[in-house]
Amino acid sequence: MMVCLFKGTNSEEPAGKISVINAMRGTTGSLKYFTINSNFAYLLDGMTPTVKEILEKELFTTGNLVKLLSAGDEDTKLIFSTSAAIKKQYTGEKVFFRGLIELSNICSKNCYYCGIRRGNRNPERYLVTEPEVLEAARYALDNGFGSMVMQSGERFDKRYIGYVESLLRKIKAMSAGKLGITLSMGEQTEETYRRWFEAGAHRYLLRIETSNRELYYKIHPRDARHDYDFRLQSLELLRKTGYNVGSGVMIGLPFQTLEDLAGDLQFFKNYDIDMAGMGPYIEHVDTPLYKFKDQLLPKEKRLELSLKMVALLRIIMKDVNIAATTAMQTIDKNGREKALRVGANIIMPNLTPLRYREGYLLYQNKPGISEQIEDSMKNLERQIHNAGCLVGYGEWGDSKHFAKRQTQIQ
Ligand code: SAH
Ligand code: SF4
Repeated sequence: MMVCLFKGTNSEEPAGKISVINAMRGTTGSLKYFTINSNFAYLLDGMTPTVKEILEKELFTTGNLVKLLSAGDEDTKLIFSTSAAIKKQYTGEKVFFRGLIELSNICSKNCYYCGIRRGNRNPERYLVTEPEVLEAARYALDNGFGSMVMQSGERFDKRYIGYVESLLRKIKAMSAGKLGITLSMGEQTEETYRRWFEAGAHRYLLRIETSNRELYYKIHPRDARHDYDFRLQSLELLRKTGYNVGSGVMIGLPFQTLEDLAGDLQFFKNYDIDMAGMGPYIEHVDTPLYKFKDQLLPKEKRLELSLKMVALLRIIMKDVNIAATTAMQTIDKNGREKALRVGANIIMPNLTPLRYREGYLLYQNKPGISEQIEDSMKNLERQIHNAGCLVGYGEWGDSKHFAKRQTQIQ
């Protein structure tokens, strides 16, 4: 009997052939696949495992992940119950708040999907003032948020870099170090990452957007400012600087396939990310990608696929932090609650002063444009409890994955 050997997690190429005598029976008792040790998965020629059998494995091939992503209703329930159990076991029931400040919509880039791209003349450009940032930080502290996130368009002029650095120091001083800070400000130099890290930021979120290089250049201009390799290198630089490193992708992009999404999951695993922010792609009328809107999956399907991505990431990277993102809530008012149920453990309530919110429409129909934070918090806490979770008040809630890697290094 012929057995194919699949080495690692992302290769479908048989790396060699072994005799079935060396193989131990799979945990399901089925003769369809065998596991020799946790580093290798072996499949018998011509046989595909069921969703249940895949879920019992330690390592998944890209083909396995495609199969899980395309699972029907009954199998999806099984995927979700598996991810929910893993979440409970590895990250617990706590959900952590990161108060979000959308610091500026000024951006030097022209990503084809984003409403605040440089080429869009419509949004009025803004920069949140220092007193407003500190007021939001005070709100976060007083309401038991353990952390803040500062996000913005990509700017690398000295003035902006210095402004962010001084805000970091002031938030840290004002909160006596109690507020943890995540940044999401795009690609920067190693020196800037270091300055911001030394000033108090300790997590950084930089989505790869898609791990498929060709797709990357379909959704970005092909030029020095939008360089796929540079984005990859930036993740390395962030890791080297000492940050908890986060990445993520958009789900349901035009031209995107299930193989691409399975590749994204493999990418996260290979890059050993600490945290993830993923969400459905939502079209914006003032962007070049809008012309492909008729090719997109219906929005509910994009949400469904996003929930599957959250669940599968939880299954393959058990102890990372995963955000229930605003884009999910844009499609379904309970979208974030659904994400918490299947594996997410981070929520980013928006603390951006209301007067700026119209200016930060990365996509259309973004919720919370006029909602006072007090109202949205009541709603959010109800959703969190409905999802069977608790709020980790006053805690940073860092990625357990990061902590584990640090212990291994020491
Ligand atoms: N400028 C920084 C951070 C702000 S943009 C950066 O690009 O890294 C934050 C995220 O918003 C992006 O990474 C992208 O994944 C998401 N985004 C932008 N436009 C979107 C859209 N139309 N639909 C869904 N998500 C979008
Ligand atoms: Fe700028 Fe980020 Fe939007 Fe790209 S996704 S245009 S970098 S804000």
